[in-house]
Amino acid sequence: MIRTEQLTKRYGRIAAVSDLDLEVREGDRYGFLGPNGSGKTTTVRMVLGLVLPTSGTVSLLGGKVGRESLAQVGALVEGPAFVSHLNGRTNLRLLDAAGPGADRRSRRRRVDEALEQVGLAGVDRRPVRAYSLGMRQRLGLASALLRRPRLLVLDEPTNGLDPQGIREIRDLLHALNREGTTVFLSSHLLSEVEALCTRIGVLDRGRMVLQGDLAEFQSLTGLVEVRTPDLTRAAGLLDGRVAERGLDHLLVRSDDPARLNADLVEAGVRVTTLGPQRRTLEGAVLDATGAGSDRVGLAPAAGEGR
Ligand code: ATP
Repeated sequence: MIRTEQLTKRYGRIAAVSDLDLEVREGDRYGFLGPNGSGKTTTVRMVLGLVLPTSGTVSLLGGKVGRESLAQVGALVEGPAFVSHLNGRTNLRLLDAAGPGADRRSRRRRVDEALEQVGLAGVDRRPVRAYSLGMRQRLGLASALLRRPRLLVLDEPTNGLDPQGIREIRDLLHALNREGTTVFLSSHLLSEVEALCTRIGVLDRGRMVLQGDLAEFQSLTGLVEVRTPDLTRAAGLLDGRVAERGLDHLLVRSDDPARLNADLVEAGVRVTTLGPQRRTLEGAVLDATGAGSDRVGLAPAAGEGR
């Protein structure tokens, strides 16, 4: 759906994007992650033909970035400028009228469908200035859906939204993806991308430092986490297999958690919880960037504990 090779953009001496090889496949929910200023927006703009690369190539839906491929792409880069005293439906009609042609009835149907998809069908008579930020964002998404796109490209679609708004957008993107739309979104929030995406690319200072399936980054570590009030006893029993001893848990080398549980219980050790440990995306990102918590996507989503 999107493939870039050695994509580079320089602004004078600033390399906003360097040698980027990005691959978004059909059906992906691709999360493009990186801190502010890492080059996400510049990349998105190059993919959409809004900015010319300094060097490198972009292939969009198997072809060049141009009228034909872009007609199948819905994009929300900087929220579209809505006319605030007009209602959502009228705004969409105006935007749709500027797009590729169709008869009046099918245009009307397209607008209705898009409003329905984003859950705004019931409130479309209110002027846009009375919309909450979440509703505006959904209306923006509706404008991107007018073309019934095969690929949705969204730059920070949940910026400024409260947890409820973030959830709504996430559910909506899930639903669209289930119906066959490939979703590509940029974000600086790791938690958001982890909750939505199947595939991840991580940008750091203009370079892709990590790309792959989310499941790859969440693979098993070969350790089992055991929480027990009988820590000392458990540690004694598992001597030689304990990789780490915490205040209230042990990490034990084992590829058979059920067996481990049975052994502990048989020996009279009370087990509170026991389960295989997985790598986290956060760990993978930190390993790839060698960055501290102020660099890549570790800011909690709005409403999460700070
Ligand atoms: P944010 O999340 O803050 O939007 P980003 O990851 O999208 O950040 P970009 O906006 O792509 O990052 O910017 C990458 C770098 O390129 C930054 O250092 C930025 O200052 C620089 N840059 C972007 N656009 C221009 C421009 N038109 N002229 C000069 N420098 C630019």
